[in-house]
Amino acid sequence: MKIQDLKTINERYEMFTSCSDATETGCEFVFSAKDNLTSYDFETCAGSRILEGYRPPFDATAISKMREAGGFLAGKTNMDEFGFGTFSANSGFGIPKNPYDLNRSCGGSSGGSACAAAVLEDHVSLGVSTGGSIVCPASFCGVYGIAPTYGRVSRYGLIDYGNSLDKVGVLSAKAEDLAKYLPIISGKDQRDPTSCVQPDFPKEFSKIKSVAVVNEAIEGISKDVKQNFDESVEKIRSMGIDVEFVSMPVLKYAMPAYYILATSEASTNLARYCGMRYGQQDGDLTLKFDDYFTSFRSQYFGDEAKRRILLGTFTRMVGYADRYYNKALRVRQSIISEYKKVFADHDAVMTPTMPFISPRFDEIQAMSSLDIYKADFLTIPPNITGMPHMSVPSGYSDGMPIGLMFTSDHWNEDYLLSMAMEWEKSFDMIKPEVKV
Ligand code: GLN
Repeated sequence: MKIQDLKTINERYEMFTSCSDATETGCEFVFSAKDNLTSYDFETCAGSRILEGYRPPFDATAISKMREAGGFLAGKTNMDEFGFGTFSANSGFGIPKNPYDLNRSCGGSSGGSACAAAVLEDHVSLGVSTGGSIVCPASFCGVYGIAPTYGRVSRYGLIDYGNSLDKVGVLSAKAEDLAKYLPIISGKDQRDPTSCVQPDFPKEFSKIKSVAVVNEAIEGISKDVKQNFDESVEKIRSMGIDVEFVSMPVLKYAMPAYYILATSEASTNLARYCGMRYGQQDGDLTLKFDDYFTSFRSQYFGDEAKRRILLGTFTRMVGYADRYYNKALRVRQSIISEYKKVFADHDAVMTPTMPFISPRFDEIQAMSSLDIYKADFLTIPPNITGMPHMSVPSGYSDGMPIGLMFTSDHWNEDYLLSMAMEWEKSFDMIKPEVKV
């Protein structure tokens, strides 16, 4: 039950936005949760200054289910503001550092959760993915991370980014934790109409017998990731699994379609933060109605949130729906059909998780917004289709972790979970050296 002093670790890694000492609580296990999942005992800010001071009066369903199962919520983990980012560098509360190299990113947007899973003993963390925010940081921090089928886990108490995309999932340094905690947080919830009546997790998980490797996914990845991926393909073959290379050309439209859908939905969701209802409320009340909102939102939203409000408001403008949002919805449908064709013959799709190892902060600063969006080209396809996907640690380059991603058809998480446990048996994990 003893875990390290979270406050000291917090100062060093900035992975928690708020935390308490979990020592000797009598609980059965310790967990943390991304800062966009509400909890009655901590501020919940979704990484945004605009929500500073917001103390929700209720728990998100995923958090209450973890508590009911004997969990102690140790803290809320740092993240990109409202989930907008790939490196957790867009947080309003400091930037979590990668435990393998403090000059590099933890990944995002669930960067704090991945860092906590990597450095704390016996720790499981709840993350949220909209376009890859569980698997990306899992891969950069060398841990296991699973994002389930959309609708598997209730979104009640989740601060929305993109309502048709957001999924709550699990990160841990141990594969068996994914299999243990994902079923705990899953299930239809009367309080979330988008949660589904769903097939239960089977007692015995099905094993993957054949995987498809997407040709387009291994174009444009770095040399070290490619080399590691080739080794992973050999390892998968040696596990007796058939590997076939397939082409999925439509995947190239996933990234642009995602950024239309996600920003459109985000821009409507952010309208509720106006300095009147949640969090910060210190605006000048003598101002006119519109001026009050404008000055307040200008002051407390970060740059990336503002960029997404502009993008999303543009794509939703009257007369533009067919040109952008509806077209993006059609692209989403054709991507789903393409995956379904592949799943007719294969149990899973396998690709690298990220095209490169975690970048240094100076490299991130030199990237344009478009470069950053493009870095998600591997993680967006399974997210836009609502399909379950998982990153497993697959090796190291210059001491930095590399991840391997598996995607399965809707409701087939058991394939992924059995793979994670099988993979772990022969993978030598190198733990980060933590000095606190
Ligand atoms: N990097 C993607 C984005 O910025 C995905 C983030 C997420 O899944 N929350 O939208």
